[in-house]
Amino acid sequence: MMVVRRLLTLLLVLVSGACSDHNSRAYHDQFFAFGTLIDVTFYDAAPDLADQASAIIASDFHSLHREWHAWQPGPLTAINARLVQPEAFTVDPDLLPVIQEANRLARLSGGLFNPTIGRLVALWGFHDNALPLGTLPDREAVAALVAQAPSAEDVVIRDSMISSRNPAVQYDLGGFAKGYAIDRIMDRLRSLGIENAIVNAGGDLRAIGRHGNRPWRVGIRHPRQEGILASIEIEGDASIFTSGDYERFFEVDGARQHHIIDPRSGYPAALSTSVTVIHGTAATADAAATALFVAGPAQWTGVARRMGVELIMLIDTDGIIHMTPGMQHRVRFEPGTNPELKISEPLS
Ligand code: ADP
Ligand code: MG
Repeated sequence: MMVVRRLLTLLLVLVSGACSDHNSRAYHDQFFAFGTLIDVTFYDAAPDLADQASAIIASDFHSLHREWHAWQPGPLTAINARLVQPEAFTVDPDLLPVIQEANRLARLSGGLFNPTIGRLVALWGFHDNALPLGTLPDREAVAALVAQAPSAEDVVIRDSMISSRNPAVQYDLGGFAKGYAIDRIMDRLRSLGIENAIVNAGGDLRAIGRHGNRPWRVGIRHPRQEGILASIEIEGDASIFTSGDYERFFEVDGARQHHIIDPRSGYPAALSTSVTVIHGTAATADAAATALFVAGPAQWTGVARRMGVELIMLIDTDGIIHMTPGMQHRVRFEPGTNPELKISEPLS
């Protein structure tokens, strides 16, 4: 179901992006990674180089996914197993920068993006690609984990040693791993000599360099209907990431239980249906989309300021669309949609 929905999002993105894509110098490839279809486009690259680069990044994506997986046995599960004890230990040098960046974004978000709530995510059954539980987790078990309040602040990193003051800390990088991976992949592409590229992971994407003469348009799914609500323009080196409550969910007595958890309550964040963020780096856009989704319509501007993101669209559970003025300039709503808009002050 999740894959189907993501395919749909991707198709919509491709349809709406096709206008900037009549360029015969574009090279396309697709592969599965990070639980989604990854669509790669290079511009003005020699065909041999493009084939080679695409094969390299497909393999990179697979190894990053394995390395950062919080549940399938691998380097991150090994770290999680040891974090239960207070003793410091050496972290795999490949994983250290990922964890440091996750911690940095967690602090900036005031803990609304919280990559240390792996236990809560598992309790809700959103920790693997299997279908979620379909029933609510035990109320007391949720309350106990919330009381233990695992956070990035509990983690101390010195040189390459890590330790946790809180035995409840368990890393789940799912809220930003796709973004961080795309940033890494873009560095890799540049080092291979590819300057102009778009890497699109199920509607979340980053573009570098030039991509045709026109800006790239990305379709944003309507959170409550089939099809797209709006399209958003991105230009230059930029990423666009969306977190929605329609990606993975189940219903209990008609109430939607989805995969973005408010670390303060231990329950799915109930104030937003979709948040889209445009930012230079994909890791920040991804983490911010998750954090702002949790923040909701009353708190998002403060969190966005602290995280240094300025181009935001948040749809609340009443269907009201909250945007920064910068985002408003880039959004084009589909004909026939006439949403209520609330435009914020500029954030910087
Ligand atoms: P998606 O992966 O669907 O694009 P997100 O980027 O919002 O959506 O990530 C959601 C995933 O992040 C969840 O499946 C879970 O693994 C993890 N997660 C859930 N709540 C939080 C949170 N408050 N902070 C950080 N990660 C979270
Ligand atoms: Mg995210």
